[in-house]
Amino acid sequence: MACTTNAFSLSISSNPNTKLSSDLNPKFYKPVNVALRGSCTGDLNLGRLALSRPSQLGRRICANATQVMDQFVGERSSAAPTIVEVDLGDRSYPIYIGSGLLDQHELLQKHVHGKKVLVVTNTTIAPLYLDKVVDALTRGNPNVSVENVILPDGEKHKNMETLMKVFDKAIESRLDRRCTFVALGGGVIGDMCGFAAAAFLRGVNFIQIPTTVMAQVDSSVGGKTGINHPLGKNLIGAFYQPQCVLVDTDTLDTLPDRELASGLAEVIKYGLIRDADFFEWQEKNMEKLMARDPDALAYAIKRSCENKAEVVSLDEKESGLRATLNLGHTFGHAIETGFGYGEWLHGEAVAAGTVMAVDMSHRLGWIDSSIVKRVNDILLRAKLPTAPPDTMTVEMFKSVMAVDKKVADGLLRLILLKGPLGNCVFTGEYDRKALDDTLSAFCKS
Ligand code: NAD
Repeated sequence: MACTTNAFSLSISSNPNTKLSSDLNPKFYKPVNVALRGSCTGDLNLGRLALSRPSQLGRRICANATQVMDQFVGERSSAAPTIVEVDLGDRSYPIYIGSGLLDQHELLQKHVHGKKVLVVTNTTIAPLYLDKVVDALTRGNPNVSVENVILPDGEKHKNMETLMKVFDKAIESRLDRRCTFVALGGGVIGDMCGFAAAAFLRGVNFIQIPTTVMAQVDSSVGGKTGINHPLGKNLIGAFYQPQCVLVDTDTLDTLPDRELASGLAEVIKYGLIRDADFFEWQEKNMEKLMARDPDALAYAIKRSCENKAEVVSLDEKESGLRATLNLGHTFGHAIETGFGYGEWLHGEAVAAGTVMAVDMSHRLGWIDSSIVKRVNDILLRAKLPTAPPDTMTVEMFKSVMAVDKKVADGLLRLILLKGPLGNCVFTGEYDRKALDDTLSAFCKS
């Protein structure tokens, strides 16, 4: 891995990443006059990876830089899960990936602390998977009692009022510090349950069972938890790592097509910013992914988790490297905020934002045109948008981007591609005109 960092930019060659951003809603804030140019305090902690831990369970895939291509495709699914380890010292945890994992009761049960479990889920997922999860937690384990709280579905409910329902249930059920919270759902449930677990009695045990592609490849891994505030997205939260992440790929059978595609935007991101071989694999296998080929999906989830786990292991609290997982997210959050939450799915906004970041990288002369074309092509094949909605204006972008979390000392830092495919920079050091030109090219006014 080649890495350079200075007061203005962080440049990572062949290994960068991150995601999550919280945007203040411009409805409540006047646009701030910010110079959208340089300054970065990217502080990279590049410790040597030592991500392998002994385990008796299944095939263990360690989150390291080794490319493990085509391992899944063509193989028959096996009962043994693939395991990706997130190495965070005494807070390390496994990500189990595979088909039928909710039938392997020991996987979940070995990570439960205490005798009381609270499953947090929503009105869509409860009828589909709650019974199965309760069975997985209790079969052959009569000493454990399982409570549940079923929250309303949707990003608009990712707030303090809904969070209180989790605390109400936990307190009414007399849960003590030796209990376990289980998040059963997509990124919204995972973020809320994780934050509840971080705060309840100042922190209780927590397990993630992600059921969307978005959550399986991204949000359930890495310990970012939180809720939205009326003034902006993900503004209140905590870093809080789970005890394990259990990805049963069978849960994707019920996921709507649009949600599947939305999650693939994050899969494509990993290839672009740090894993060119993975991107090439996606180019060969996009139709299989869209058709929900189980082996292709399992491989994409595994490789994505390896990438995320490696980045999180190196930069848990996002001092620099982890920010690179935000490729396309600054533009994307402007779309989500400006166009209205829920109008476009998170991954759809990220896809259009990625095209804009790639366009800007090309205008800066940092990548060649073949990469621009390949990004457009793969997003189109994933049925994702390659431009923002018509209603987005340059001013809407600028007003939201001016209050992006990655603004430091009044200067906006962006994740841009630079060099051969698989390389990116997190930098505030770029020609402001390239940003203006990109915004003008994608907005009618
Ligand atoms: P989501 O949680 O809203 O789920 C999408 C929809 O699919 C919901 O209606 C949900 O009920 C439904 N659903 C979930 N699993 C299903 C299944 N198996 N079958 C049928 N329906 C199912 O959205 P998401 O895309 O999973 O997550 C988006 C959220 O994740 C955002 O709030 C975003 O901020 C957050 N996020 C967090 C991180 C992080 O690092 N913490 C990273 C990325 C995104």
